[in-house]
Amino acid sequence: MLLVVGAGFAGATLSRKLADSGYKIHQIDRRNHIGGNAFDGVDDKGVLVHRYGPHIFHTNSEHVWDFLSRFTEWRSYEHRVLGAVDGKHYPFPINRDTLNLLYGLNLDEAGAENFFEQVREPREPVRTSEDVVLNSVGRDLYEKFFLNYTRKQWGMEPSELKAGVAARIPVRTNTDDRYFTDTYQAMPLHGYTKMFERMLDHPNITVELGVDFADIKEKEQWEHVVYTGPIDAYFNYCFGRLPYRSLSFEHEHIPDTQQYQEVGTVNFPNDHAYTRITEFKHLTGQKHPGTSIVREYPQAQGDPYYPIPSDANEALYKRYATLAETEQGVTFVGRLAQYRYYNMDQVVAAALVAAKKIIG
Ligand code: FAD
Repeated sequence: MLLVVGAGFAGATLSRKLADSGYKIHQIDRRNHIGGNAFDGVDDKGVLVHRYGPHIFHTNSEHVWDFLSRFTEWRSYEHRVLGAVDGKHYPFPINRDTLNLLYGLNLDEAGAENFFEQVREPREPVRTSEDVVLNSVGRDLYEKFFLNYTRKQWGMEPSELKAGVAARIPVRTNTDDRYFTDTYQAMPLHGYTKMFERMLDHPNITVELGVDFADIKEKEQWEHVVYTGPIDAYFNYCFGRLPYRSLSFEHEHIPDTQQYQEVGTVNFPNDHAYTRITEFKHLTGQKHPGTSIVREYPQAQGDPYYPIPSDANEALYKRYATLAETEQGVTFVGRLAQYRYYNMDQVVAAALVAAKKIIG
């Protein structure tokens, strides 16, 4: 019998792949539900919401897409985001329309390219998130869209954050206003939780919820353990805690309102303590006389959501990863176990590779 700790994307993917290969799996999660941070369910007014913030599925991997498609049908969905600046909403990521609306211009593609060339502050080398943004769009756009958002989201200055964080957000000279450009962009038709239920519905898998690995670790023997929780917790924080950024979510139902905002997510870089508001009906396509939204408030304490990418944190993670290599019979995989700022599809891809290794 194998033990899989955590029933999010990493744990559920591994369980299913191993079960398909004949392994018997016992899956636990300390929460009272499956799905990890992608868990969704209807609120008390009947609107499907994501408890831990909006999760939009997108991938370029056919392999990942094919695997998940065994467990769900899809609703095609391309996410759009607006940034609120001085009370007006602009396309985000910044594109040509953002420039034209913000500065009252009428630029074509070459004009937008030239605009960025004029305003950018060349940086060499590009080390931090501040370098990335100033180097591509210059100071005014940096201050309007990035600076305060980053301070709120990470509790750090952009100059303290690694380049990779800002490099995730493109800058466009065309008018493409989609947040992602991946080949596959869709939401599970009946929600993430239903998809997870089908993944784990296998005669070789038993699921036990509300169980913490720490409480059973010493009690039972397993053929192999797949661990998808925080790697520092596994080793009792022996080198100290890996820093995470957390969030609190303020869910609200607005009755008798078809639509609260024009797009799925509106970012508030400069106003309010929250970073963004997401309206779920845009994502799910649900028909309902009212609508439900969530506001996200970043905070230092709470559930571990975002590994904080910095050189010091990566060095600390490496120490744990080195220790993990010597741990016999345990596979560490997932966002928390690998301390990586992974999207859902990347976690599935990593779990598929890990399953292959175990199966041999
Ligand atoms: P998790 O989903 O965190 O699952 C780990 C599970 O392990 C948890 O359920 C936890 O309870 C359990 N666990 C931990 N320790 C123990 C223990 N000791 N004993 C028992 N159980 C334990 N990705 C996208 O692709 N698109 C998005 O739009 C997107 N939006 C996001 C928005 C937010 C606010 C956040 C926080 C993340 C977002 N992500 C998004 C990332 C996505 O959530 C992760 O990639 C994915 O959930 C990681 O899956 P996982 O299985 O590694 O971890």
